[in-house]
Amino acid sequence: MAGRWDCGWPPSCCRYRDGELAEWLRDELSRRPGWQWEPLSAEDDAGLEAYRSFVAWEGHNDIPADAVENDYPLGKWVASVRRRRVLGTLAPVLALLLVAAAPIDRHYLRRFAWHPQSTWWAINLDAARQYISRTQTLLGMPDGHCELLEGRPIAVSQWMSRMRHQHKRGLLSDEQIAELQALPGWQWTAAPIAERVEPGSPEACSNFPCPRRARCRGLCGACYEEQRTAQLAAGTWTSSYVDAAPVREHVIKLKERGIGRRRLAALAGVNDKASATLLNARSARSSGPRGKVLVTTAAKRWAVEIPDAPHHGSVADRTPVPAETSRVQLRAVVETLGGSRAEAYRRCGISVATGTSVLTGRSQQVTAATARRIERAYTAYCGAGTQ
Ligand SMILES: [Zn+2]
Repeated sequence: MAGRWDCGWPPSCCRYRDGELAEWLRDELSRRPGWQWEPLSAEDDAGLEAYRSFVAWEGHNDIPADAVENDYPLGKWVASVRRRRVLGTLAPVLALLLVAAAPIDRHYLRRFAWHPQSTWWAINLDAARQYISRTQTLLGMPDGHCELLEGRPIAVSQWMSRMRHQHKRGLLSDEQIAELQALPGWQWTAAPIAERVEPGSPEACSNFPCPRRARCRGLCGACYEEQRTAQLAAGTWTSSYVDAAPVREHVIKLKERGIGRRRLAALAGVNDKASATLLNARSARSSGPRGKVLVTTAAKRWAVEIPDAPHHGSVADRTPVPAETSRVQLRAVVETLGGSRAEAYRRCGISVATGTSVLTGRSQQVTAATARRIERAYTAYCGAGTQ
């Protein structure tokens, strides 16, 4: 054992161990309440021995995190010692022994690097991970939340907002940014109070328990951006928008065939104004017609077929169409039935006045409804197709 405790300034318990403590001092110390001759746990004893062995061989005490000395995980032990130090649970004697066993540096001092900053970083990261192990995500962590780590409350919510702030000022390293981003539910901007709603409620972001209001595809802005970035990286991203040009062409053709903007809006169940901005430049924004349209509304407009004749398809009943076809068909019906014209008009379901004006050519236009009635009769009595 001799030599093991020969630190520069050995505490009493070391001298006691080595049998070098004066008898009177031993008795005096033993009488003190709570005095311990073996203040270290077996684990710390082993750690300290490995530490001393490392220092003896390497000549320094800058111990790497993955250091192993004589099969003992020294790096891990040192990390746990640093942790206990910043949490205030390290036995003072162990701190003393670590410094005492350090080599003398060029300033003739013995030092031990406690690395409080990186230790706090690791502790807070662990606290965040412990929270995630229960909730799966950091989303929905209440403000001011503390996580109990090694019996000590760690103000992890406060730390998170501090890290966001430091990130904004460019004070975080790339590794730190990567470590934070790897935490499930990490967000670089905290949800503003005004934007928060009850998590899981209908107006909330569908990424439960995110407390923000849903904005796009059922997600809040931050979650949507996150999903979009991930899907873009994975190559599975599909935009909700498509090129407007073919849709615009379709709408123009429908208009030429008698299905106007308002009729289209009613048929397709789309916004009439949206069709206007699809067709025309927007003077208010001094921009051209829209370059992109939502894929859902594009599909709805596309579903409205272009009629093959002016009065076919979805053309509204009161839309005027050229009377030429109707005149030919009505004449054929009258000739086939052979009776009075009034009877033919009745069979067609049109008034005498309408029938007469169509037949005599007084009307250049009829309504789509009249054209359809005449065509129905023509198909029924003349047994022919539409032409
Ligand atoms: Zn969200």
